Amino acid sequence: MPNQKTLSIIKPDAVKAGHANAINLMIENAGLKILKKKELNLTTEQAKEFYSIHSDKPFYNELCNFMTSGPIIVQMLEGENAIELYRKVMGATNPDDAEENTIRKKFATSIQENAVHGSDSEENALKELNFFF
Ligand code: ATP
Ligand code: MG
Repeated sequence: MPNQKTLSIIKPDAVKAGHANAINLMIENAGLKILKKKELNLTTEQAKEFYSIHSDKPFYNELCNFMTSGPIIVQMLEGENAIELYRKVMGATNPDDAEENTIRKKFATSIQENAVHGSDSEENALKELNFFF
């Protein structure tokens, strides 16, 4: 398995609720290293660009409003097979479908306010890491 880097975002719902440390414990317990971390507020312009792949979806505007509603924590993760491994630790997009012991099962409150983001491919991981770091 290749050593990879991926982008993690702790979304406004989870930062606001004080779940960041618990989420990062789950990430580290899965064997992933947090190489870089910063807290920031996305501008509307940044949110629109970051999620431009979803610009034709009915939830795009709401998603951008949510992502700018409070501070987020962006992180560079590293590890063996990090992209897929972190997606596994996050769990399904909709917390109703997420497996036990996943971040979203524990901390997501809806399909939109689902606590975390993770890159879904090597190409997107590179793009998204460059976007923030
Ligand atoms: P992420 O990209 O945040 O890691 P994901 O890859 O599991 O999550 P995507 O399909 O890429 O899910 O959707 C991006 C984000 O858009 C989701 O994480 C969620 O916050 C929001 N979202 C997705 N589907 C819906 C929906 N049907 N209604 C509202 N919000 C949604
Ligand atoms: Mg996605």
